[in-house]
Amino acid sequence: MFSTRQLFFEILAQTSPAPIALEIEKASGCWLYSPEGRKYFDLIAGVSVSNIGHNNPVVINAIKQQLDKYMHLMVYGEFIQKPQVQLAEALCSLLPGALNSVYFTSSGSEAAEGAIKLARRYTGRHEIISFKNAYHGSTLGALSVMGNETLKRAFRPLMPSVRQIEFNNEDSLEAISHHTACVIAEPIQAEAGVIVAEHDFIRKLRNKCTEKGALLIFDEIQTGFGRTGDIFAMDCFKVYPDIVLFAKSLGGGLPLGAFISSRDVMSALCSNPALGHITTFGGHPVSCSAGLASIEYIIEHRLAENACRAGEKFRELLVHPAIREIRGKGLLLAAELENTAVVKKAIKRCLANGLITEWFLFDEKSIRISPPLIISESEIREVCKIIIKSLDEV
Ligand code: PLP
Repeated sequence: MFSTRQLFFEILAQTSPAPIALEIEKASGCWLYSPEGRKYFDLIAGVSVSNIGHNNPVVINAIKQQLDKYMHLMVYGEFIQKPQVQLAEALCSLLPGALNSVYFTSSGSEAAEGAIKLARRYTGRHEIISFKNAYHGSTLGALSVMGNETLKRAFRPLMPSVRQIEFNNEDSLEAISHHTACVIAEPIQAEAGVIVAEHDFIRKLRNKCTEKGALLIFDEIQTGFGRTGDIFAMDCFKVYPDIVLFAKSLGGGLPLGAFISSRDVMSALCSNPALGHITTFGGHPVSCSAGLASIEYIIEHRLAENACRAGEKFRELLVHPAIREIRGKGLLLAAELENTAVVKKAIKRCLANGLITEWFLFDEKSIRISPPLIISESEIREVCKIIIKSLDEV
């Protein structure tokens, strides 16, 4: 008889030679529990997914109610399914008026793919600009706009006419031209190690796109729904795109993504040819019910404000000679240490001390601080004590 652990390594495809490989039996709020009854504080939140905490009863209830009605009925876009309509209405009410047409997908990568197709189809252009160290997903189109050669090289040839420019470098915006279909950007680059866009840069990016007739796509997949201290990171800049991408916490813990534009832009996917983007499970009714309950919870409990306060508390309490800098906004933070070796040791010590954290895809010198947004002050104190103790042990 093989143990679950042995089977995990034996028959589940591995994404790296060194997975965390922690077995979890249940989860609640900010905490994960192993089968042996050990509890771990979750400082990653499933990579910015569990904004409202694990197994939030409000979302569980919404899921159960929808399960009693129906699950999958038909591919996206054919039947009228109330959970999709209600969630789209809630999203549009939080966005500027021009972002009023919602296309639901199953994942963030699929939202990026759909948005890139839409921009190419709407503008009739094919050049795409993205940023160095950007992450927009792992499918072929999303990989093409990724700003990291190490992850891309082995999969070439990728999508043609794609180039990466420097984030927060105004001179690099000169690359945007009348040939550019779209520029895709994270207002806060998460996997780069939480690099916040400068106000002037993002405003000039918007202006340049408008001047050249290129669509601006904001990827708010990791920054959305209260994480950065505003409902969306772009709210802090008061700069808005032509297309916005959501996923991760959008589904309240269930798989769901979306790309949202104006009705005029979005109409390019429904004719010539019709069915310009098709998805079977996009906007799954159970995910949409969970998503609506989750957004209502975030607003009712003012979780964006809590993220702001909590972020400040982390900065106040996380003082240690090994921490060189804390970057980010709200509860999307990166604590930079001396080097990758120190980060790896610190993460191991944190795990041994009951805290789960990680480095970033494109920044192995920093540890991730992105817990559920429901974190309380006493939990922040507990977490900071564990991090400081772990850094002392490195
Ligand atoms: N965009 C950003 C900013 C992300 O962080 C991610 C996932 O980490 C994606 C896109 C891709 O989303 P998914 O993993 O749901 O395909």
